[in-house]
Parts: sequence; structure tokens; C-alpha cells
Amino acid sequence: MNYSCTTYELACNKCGKRYGNQPLSACPDCLAPLEVVYDLLSARGVFTRDSIARGPASIWRYARLLPVPEGFQSDLPVGFTPLIRTNRLGARLGASNLYVKNDAVCFPTLSSKDRVVAIALANAQKFGFDTVGCSSTGNLANAVAAQAARLGLKACILVPTDVEPAKILNTLVYGARLIRIDGNYDHVSRLSGLIAEEYTWGFVNVNLRPYYAEGSKTIGYEIAEQLGWRLPDNVVVPMAGGSLIGKIRKGFNELIFLGLVKKPARPVRFFGAQATGCSPISVAVKEGRDAIVPQQPNTIARSLAIGNPSDGPAAARMILADGGWAEDVSDVEIVSGIQELAETEGIFTETAGGVTTAVTARLYADGRIAQDQTTVICITGNGLKTTDALAGRFDHLDARAIRPSLADFDAYLRTLDGTAEPKLVAAEER
Ligand SMILES: *Cc1c(COP(=O)(O)O)cnc(C)c1O
Ligand SMILES: [Zn+2]
Repeated sequence: MNYSCTTYELACNKCGKRYGNQPLSACPDCLAPLEVVYDLLSARGVFTRDSIARGPASIWRYARLLPVPEGFQSDLPVGFTPLIRTNRLGARLGASNLYVKNDAVCFPTLSSKDRVVAIALANAQKFGFDTVGCSSTGNLANAVAAQAARLGLKACILVPTDVEPAKILNTLVYGARLIRIDGNYDHVSRLSGLIAEEYTWGFVNVNLRPYYAEGSKTIGYEIAEQLGWRLPDNVVVPMAGGSLIGKIRKGFNELIFLGLVKKPARPVRFFGAQATGCSPISVAVKEGRDAIVPQQPNTIARSLAIGNPSDGPAAARMILADGGWAEDVSDVEIVSGIQELAETEGIFTETAGGVTTAVTARLYADGRIAQDQTTVICITGNGLKTTDALAGRFDHLDARAIRPSLADFDAYLRTLDGTAEPKLVAAEER
């Protein structure tokens, strides 16, 4: 499939100067971040509900509003993940219109990062890079490694020392070069900035960042389309560097501008979710300011552990401007959140999703979200990647095997139900 995109180019989000299209993330004049701007008017009447519905079941159905080069083609079915109306989770939280946007099953590497990487690599190819890279707290590493492999690009990936083993393996298996940096994400990020300058590589979240970031808009487009072309009242979004939350909003606003959804009477409210052990953005929101005080991350939610989030000030501003809020939860609550989503909706999310679920529970409990409002929570990663967060939780349940007899089964069931004393034979004693 061949996509034609609306004209786009980089612009400084402070002075407005235009930079065409090139691997560049900050305005050389004022050092402010660059953003992709579009000729949105030209998409009017062309980018319609019908034209979108005729597209593939992936982010490429929205290619016209994504920065993909002229003539770009992809058959990779990234995104278009399920939006599920919760049943039992909603009941437990006292919510009657609660939905889960489930990027735990995003193709190909089971996190929202597949979306941003697809857009970044489309541009990396156009710019002629033969090596791509990133600094990552884990999921981005997986996404870059997998998609680079399919495109035949070399990948060089930098991660902090404490990234989960499954995320390391999920990077190496694709043949990527992975380099662990003795430090936290902020050290890794600074180093990757220097590397991208020194080597002529396409770093998806450094010199390709403006393109990369746009990929997150697709979550906003999908939520609106999957709700039957209307916007929710509230969205709960996990925050690391603070980029995703703002891009979902940008996606909504573009749909309003193009008349694809009705402008809601009240702006959609955004709720940011962080772990208390790394909560620079939620702290700022709670104090009603946009200045970020950097933190030393200390949480099991490693994918969100960015102590000095570059898009933090913007995230705090937009949350406050629209009447939203931010919350943060402890590691114990994160694990409970993972279990709660799994037990009620059959969705196994990683620690970041535990954060989002637990924060959502708090928001309902505190009355910040009303019961009947349409609320979408963004589950951004898969639980199979952070099983270490649940280490030991189920040991008492799977430690033993029983003999293959109905009598032993009956007896065992009664011990599980607490109606009999355990009389088990450990497999190794047989
Ligand atoms: C990267 C990531 C996010 C969002 O990160 P931002 O830096 O705020 O855009 C959310 N959840 C998971 C699992 C992630 O890996
Ligand atoms: Zn500028």
C-alpha cells in the first residue's frame, strides 16, 4: 500500500521558524524542541471517516496525518489495538463507562512504542541512515530492534543497568547491539545525544524525535474511531518523558479541526499516571506548576523511570489547563494494579499498566472522575516483559504437583479451598 501524506515539516515550537525535513530535534536559534506541523487544511474533505475506514487495520489508516515520506510503503500492521469496554474492572471501581485501550498487544513488540518507532524508521530510511538507535527504558529498545531487523537496518541501543531481563532478551534476539550504561535513564539519554551528534546514526528519540513523537497521535485517533467517532470525557495515560499524553491530545484536536469528531462541550480531561518512586510530573501537577524538579528514580515501573522528563513541563501544563489531574502510586499498589486488571479483564500488563490501573482506581475513589463519564485508560505494555515484578507472588500456588489420581485431585482442591489439611506428595518425593 502506498501512502500520500499531507505536507509536513519541522517547526520550532517557540519561535515558529520552519526547518523543512531533516534529522533535527531542537531549534538551533532558541534550543526549543521542534515539532512536525502539517498543512491540515489540505486534509479537509480528503481525510474522512470513509477514507480511513477503507485503510488497513493499523496506524497506516491514518497515514495522511502522519509524517511519512512521499511514496512510503509499509505492510507492517502496527497499532489499531483493541479498545475494550471494561466490565468487571469498571464494576469494582464504581465506573459505568470505563474502557481499556490495550497496547499490551501492539504489533510487533507488545507496547505503544511500536507506533512511534514505525514513524521514526520511515524517516530514518528516507534520510539514508543505515544504523538506527535509541536510549530506552526497555520497550523502545524492543521496538527499535524488531523493526530495524525487518527493514535491514543496523541497531545500536543504549539502556540503563536495571532494565528487566525480558526486555534485554527482547532486544538481543533481533540481532541488535545493546549497550548497558552504568547509570539511570537520564545518563543514558545525555550520552545518546552525544553519540547521535558524533556518529551519523538515526537516533529515534534524539535526532528523529519530532517524527517519532507523532506516532503517539495514533492512539488518540484510534480511541476516537473505536468509540464511534466521538471523544471520551477523560483519558488516563502513564507518563515517562511526558510525550505520549500530549500527543494523544494533539490527535484529538486534529480530529476536531477536521470535523471528524464533534468538539465536546468541555475539553477532554487528561489524567497522568506515575509511580511515586519517579513522579516529577505528578508532583508538579499536584503543586499547580509546570516546573519540573528532577528525581532519582526508584521504582519497579522501570519503563516510566525518567527522573528528568523532557516533555514534563508541557505535560503538566496541558493537564492543568484542561482540568485534569495527575497521581502517583507505590510499588505495592502497582503490583495490585497489575493483578486487578488481570483478574477482572483478563489483560496482563507490565508495571506501567499497573501504575495506570492503580492511579485510575485512586481517581475514581477520590471523586476526580465521575462514575458515568466515558473514560479510557491507556495500557501501554505487556506483563510478560516484567514478570520479575510478580516474583514470589504465586509460589505458594505452584510449588507442588499431585499424583495423577482423582482422589488426590479431590483432596488437593479441598486444601486450596481451605476445607482440608494439605496432604500432598511433592513430585520429587514420589
Ligand atoms: C514509553 C512508555 C510510556 C510513555 O512514555 P512517554 O515518555 O511519557 O511518552 C508509557 N508506557 C510505557 C510502557 C512506555 O514504555
Ligand atoms: Zn526557535
